[in-house]
Amino acid sequence: MSTTGRYAPSPTGAMHLGNLRTALLAWLHSRAQGGRHLLRFEDLDAGRVREWAYQTTRDDLHWLGLDWDEEFRQSERLELYAAAVKRLDTYPCTCTRRELQEAVQQSVGAPHGPEPVYPGTCQDPRNRHPERPAALRWRVPDESVCVHDGWNGQTICQNLRSEVGDFVVQRSDGAYAYHLAVVVDDAEMGVTDVLRGADLLTATPRQVALQRTLGYPTPLYWHVPLMSDYGGQRLAKRSGAPSVRDLRQGGKEAATLRAELAQSLGWQVGERADLDTLLTLYRESVLS
Ligand code: GLU
Repeated sequence: MSTTGRYAPSPTGAMHLGNLRTALLAWLHSRAQGGRHLLRFEDLDAGRVREWAYQTTRDDLHWLGLDWDEEFRQSERLELYAAAVKRLDTYPCTCTRRELQEAVQQSVGAPHGPEPVYPGTCQDPRNRHPERPAALRWRVPDESVCVHDGWNGQTICQNLRSEVGDFVVQRSDGAYAYHLAVVVDDAEMGVTDVLRGADLLTATPRQVALQRTLGYPTPLYWHVPLMSDYGGQRLAKRSGAPSVRDLRQGGKEAATLRAELAQSLGWQVGERADLDTLLTLYRESVLS
């Protein structure tokens, strides 16, 4: 089957170098295999979307030399998510953030692993407040879900019931949750290979469980390292890391930045790099 990959930015601000490196790798991954490449704006969290960020993201990507065959916006695909939610076994949850925190603290065995596990408070209808707006939580299967990661060669397994708990698929303000939308979109868009930041690795088992329940195929996964600043902090849009737009408008050359991004991955390139060189390097160092 031929490869279809995607880059899925959230248009919430200016891209930083870490975003751009992931975008470059996603493009290399699709194109090095002669595959299709998609751009999908993940803009379901309306409060965080910045209208200008769509075009700035496109400009940043084009400037680096990246292209794509089709573009999507999640905000235009709400019927698909609604249909998927209907097919899941969900229940309404009206707990506030504070109530959730208390419930997690009181639940047996707390504190758990790296993230709080939802203890299932709202499974009992007596714990629901019909007068409040309700989120929908998916009753996760009690099974271990394993995912192989192509980038580091590791397989991670998670028991969703004990390590994650029933998670939100539609928020109380009506917005569809990221995990749900991503799973529906990757399947509907025929995505075979997901290359994205390593911060999403531990979210992948819940996405795979959703795929299985909805009858979708599971793509191959590649979770690439996040870029950190000199102090070792992960780059973030909020943290004042230099934006790609600023570098571009400040006269930085794309060929130089491509070389720097490649070097940051430990690849041997000169001071300037074209995309053909990087495609060859990607085939040799990652795909072979
Ligand atoms: N929209 C997510 C982000 O910007 C990426 C989601 C994905 O690639 O699955 O971090």
